[in-house]
Amino acid sequence: MPVSEFSLIYRYFSALGRGEAVDLSVGDDCAILHLGPGERLATSVDTMVEGVHFPEDSFPEDIGYRVVAAAASDLAAMGARPIGMTLALTLPQADELWLHAFSEGLAAAANDCQLPLVGGDTTRGPLTITIQVLGALPPDQALLRSGAGPGDGVYVSGCLGDAAAALACLSGEWRPAPAHLDYLLDRFNRPRARIDLGRGLLGVASAAIDISDGLLADAGHIAAASGVRLHIEPGLLPLSPALLSHPDAEQALRWALTGGDDYELCFCLPAGRQAPAGCTRIGQVERGSGVDCGLDLGRSSGYQHF
Ligand code: ADP
Ligand code: MG
Repeated sequence: MPVSEFSLIYRYFSALGRGEAVDLSVGDDCAILHLGPGERLATSVDTMVEGVHFPEDSFPEDIGYRVVAAAASDLAAMGARPIGMTLALTLPQADELWLHAFSEGLAAAANDCQLPLVGGDTTRGPLTITIQVLGALPPDQALLRSGAGPGDGVYVSGCLGDAAAALACLSGEWRPAPAHLDYLLDRFNRPRARIDLGRGLLGVASAAIDISDGLLADAGHIAAASGVRLHIEPGLLPLSPALLSHPDAEQALRWALTGGDDYELCFCLPAGRQAPAGCTRIGQVERGSGVDCGLDLGRSSGYQHF
């Protein structure tokens, strides 16, 4: 888009760039951000492709919100303090109605996640959105996947399985009551990155991960990185009233165990610790390897692209 590229960038993406750590934002060859004394930079990047990560008829506001929250969730899982993000946007055409709505969702998430938009890149092609997030960590602390030890408790934030249930609703597989449907769609479209929780777990949790691919798959990453087994008790999983309204309790449980896109945190705490507000103990760490939930769910390894 040679003629209007710069005006589009300035119209839709240059106003979100102010933040406490931002010295220079959109408009130059690089953004300049500063860290506090001794702090370390945490960074992660996530791409969403139309038709793969969100349905083709998604509202642009929701796409904008979700792509930022999903990327910010990785900062939450590290316990990092958000300092800024960049956006690589590939668009099939310069549709200003679409861009306006997309930038509104982006702005809402940027505000909720405290992530000023400090730069990016804009190109033409199939709709693809990449967000890189930048965060700050203290010199000596981070929430890693490694570090869980036998005897620790396993916890999750929020409710599980809602986003997978929302996808089933979108595909026409399930029609819950209207209030439940609204709740589930909001959970898919507007995930909340658990940034404050992650920062509060710094120096407290022995291991943590965000649940993007499904609880069993992501708990498996903690187990592998920590060299332990995670025992999960399905009866303890936090299920929302909407999910519990599904006529097939086994399907609801399957979504909670294997459905992705919830962006809640799964973390381990040393024995005797209380669950933080809004979090639920779902099992414990044992000697061994892998994740065991006492159920045979067949293929349950979470979403994989290849
Ligand atoms: P360069 O040629 O130096 O890479 P660009 O022409 O790609 O610069 O971008 C001009 C400015 O606009 C840069 O500061 C860049 O970070 C910013 N920018 C480009 N696209 C976006 C976008 N989608 N969101 C936010 N900032 C963007
Ligand atoms: Mg560029």
